[in-house]
Amino acid sequence: MSKPKLIIVSAPSGAGKSTLCQRLLKDYPEKFKFSISSTTRKPRGQEQNGKEYHFLSKPEFQKGIEAGQFAEWANVHDEFYGTSKSEIDAAFLAGKSIILDIDVQGAASLRKSYPNQHIDIFVAPPSLEVLEQRLRSRGTDPDAVIAKRMKNAKSEMDRMNEFTTILINDDLDETYKKFKDVVFGK
Ligand code: ADP
Ligand code: 5GP
Repeated sequence: MSKPKLIIVSAPSGAGKSTLCQRLLKDYPEKFKFSISSTTRKPRGQEQNGKEYHFLSKPEFQKGIEAGQFAEWANVHDEFYGTSKSEIDAAFLAGKSIILDIDVQGAASLRKSYPNQHIDIFVAPPSLEVLEQRLRSRGTDPDAVIAKRMKNAKSEMDRMNEFTTILINDDLDETYKKFKDVVFGK
């Protein structure tokens, strides 16, 4: 992998994309930087402001949109999520590829803005039943949130064919190996 790239990773919530991205970042800290998105949703579990996300109020997020701060932004599960241009610039300046855990709408925007500088991967669960089990066993979301995420999962999976690579995350170690191969262009 020569020139720094955008590594766009999308998946229905609970499919395992954070697990894969965090493993890659831990194994190759000198090659990759995680894109810390901004969001209006509330922190979940142990999440800290500035680590997993920049947690903003809706008016703060709106200000960011108006100031042209975002490379892309979208409304997901009734909350705003966006990638700041400065996140991408900082990674490239450090000579690193940037890993973006974003939804299918954000992926479509960035494919257009960075046509020759991205790798796009969709992580799919083996089935919707398994997806629901993983969301429940993660233990971070109440039932109503899980129901909303399951509804959204179906519409996100309807768009997985827009992605160059689709990985079915059944066995984690096998999926991680394939994930690395795609990221390193093997
Ligand atoms: P996402 O970031 O896509 O929302 P997570 O990475 O948080 O999903 O994974 C959801 C849950 O499923 C977590 O508890 C994680 O440990 C578990 N998980 C991830 N990949 C697998 C896998 N291949 N097999 C079983 N459990 C998995
Ligand atoms: P979660 O609330 O589970 O962290 O994320 C919900 C969804 O928002 C996931 O599909 C995640 O990929 C997506 N998401 C997170 N950050 C961004 C972002 O900056 N832009 C877009 N478009 N989607 C994002």
